[in-house]
Amino acid sequence: MPSPDRRRLVPRTDAILAHPAIAEAERALGRALVKSVIGAAQDKARAGEIEPGAVTEYVIATLPATASGLRPVINATGVLVHTNLGRAPLSGAALDAVAAAGRATDVEFDLETGRRARRGRGALAALAEAVPAAGGVHVVNNNAAALLLVALALAAGREIVLSRGEMVEIGDGFRIPELLESTGARLREVGTTNRTTLNDYADAIGPETAFVLKVHPSNFRVTGFTAGAGVTELAGLGAPLVVDIGSGLLTPHRLLPDEPDATSVLEAGADLVTASGDKLLGGPQAGLLLGRAELVERLRRHPSARALRVDKLTLAALEATLRGPRPPVARTLELDQEALRPRAERLVAEIPEATVADCVAEVGGGGAPGVTLPSVAVSLPASWAARLRTGDPAVVGRVERGRCLLDLRTVDPREDESLLRAMRRCSS
Ligand SMILES: *Cc1c(COP(=O)(O)O)cnc(C)c1O
Repeated sequence: MPSPDRRRLVPRTDAILAHPAIAEAERALGRALVKSVIGAAQDKARAGEIEPGAVTEYVIATLPATASGLRPVINATGVLVHTNLGRAPLSGAALDAVAAAGRATDVEFDLETGRRARRGRGALAALAEAVPAAGGVHVVNNNAAALLLVALALAAGREIVLSRGEMVEIGDGFRIPELLESTGARLREVGTTNRTTLNDYADAIGPETAFVLKVHPSNFRVTGFTAGAGVTELAGLGAPLVVDIGSGLLTPHRLLPDEPDATSVLEAGADLVTASGDKLLGGPQAGLLLGRAELVERLRRHPSARALRVDKLTLAALEATLRGPRPPVARTLELDQEALRPRAERLVAEIPEATVADCVAEVGGGGAPGVTLPSVAVSLPASWAARLRTGDPAVVGRVERGRCLLDLRTVDPREDESLLRAMRRCSS
């Protein structure tokens, strides 16, 4: 039981707030947040968990880096696009663009004429230039919002023809068929889980058909006795064809031959393509809509478009992703395994418990299932996983065959020093 004397020794809030480092933190984080950290430290001192004399030091050590509770994480999972870790990390150019756009900006204003201008025209122009096969482009909150808008604007009260093999659950219980039906569109399911032929589609198309939807089964694969209809064949059926490509590749990628891209799909005859901005494109969360100008205009003019529109920060990040240097996802995808080995060797040199191990990274984020990327990891005792995860910065690896693997493919080389410090804290 801590003595009453000891409780009297706990410094008062005003005295702690007067410390220069804490006064500075108060300017960056706000008084309420800093006071809550001080309160927690005082409680610990009263409970005898820390010395009264160490309260100020403890406050300084536990103040958060930003006023947001989101903690920075080093993604050492080897999953390039990790949905639980916020999917694609933004490029430096995109981060700079976000910071600049966070102030007043001409997102919807023409500085020449002093009049209102088309919102996000820079990002839209960049997207249109990246995919010349698209007559029109539009950007919404995410790919789910893109599908929602397409269904609302083109199919409410009518039918969407969809293969039973492409009735995908995105994750966390969200299912594309249910999302489509929530708009008042009716689903016309065709084919079976493993086989859907062109005739199945042809037989279902009629006066009630709004469009045929092809969804890329991005997070699973059906192998064996399978059949499907390609974009070119489906485009020949006469009904509008919408293709959800998922990953956001705009042009073909040599390492991902099975992953559809917007340019190829539009050139093969699709009328509209929907995709995510924060998967393989490597940008911010966004839903990309590309395709026939007249259809895109109908989407843009639909009353719901306003509810699904993106923020200026997203527009800034998207434009910088499209126009600036290649984003981290593209770079990490193309890294050579041997380029990772010297980094791993340097990291394990100081940590007796660590070894270098070959491992396999993956694209993730519901993209390119079955594509494996040879990689190199720092291999650590499995018991370190939890300590690394709860450290600052948090390091998230994966536990495999009784070891905690930190896959360097997804770690920015500039994070190596932080990784080393985190490992030193665990090492005896
Ligand atoms: C990821 C994915 C979605 C969902 O995209 P969000 O941008 O997360 O809304 C939809 N369809 C496919 C095929 C996907 O891969």
